[in-house]
Amino acid sequence: MLILFYFSDFIQGLCLLHTKALHSISDAAFNKILDNVNSNLTIHKLKKKINSIIPFEPQRYDTCKNSCIAFTSLYESLTSCSKCNENRYDDNGKPVNTTFFFSLKECLIIQYKNKERADELQYRNTYFQNKEGNEEIYADIFDGM
Ligand SMILES: [Zn+2]
Repeated sequence: MLILFYFSDFIQGLCLLHTKALHSISDAAFNKILDNVNSNLTIHKLKKKINSIIPFEPQRYDTCKNSCIAFTSLYESLTSCSKCNENRYDDNGKPVNTTFFFSLKECLIIQYKNKERADELQYRNTYFQNKEGNEEIYADIFDGM
């Protein structure tokens, strides 16, 4: 029963964390909201729990405010967008826009560690409808080729 309560509290915390991100709520205000709904969680406890489930951190990159490019790799040294010419930095020298990115490699490693998800990811590789010779049956998008 205690585990179910903790899980429910964690799910509620995740829902509130989503709302926090959507509305740019400060950590202090978020902790006050958690306190007001009688949650034992804090932003610190939530992040710690999430990091125990997803063991890697997103990387933050400067991006064009119009979402044209991320200032990384070939664009790393640019001070304005190569597509729309918007400035990378504001008058105070701070990035105008930043975006978090997760490593695709680390995302795939986590997904392949889960047997069910790994099987789902192999779907295309194991799909045999047309390989059995009946080319008039289109049971999947992969039968079209
Ligand atoms: Zn741009």
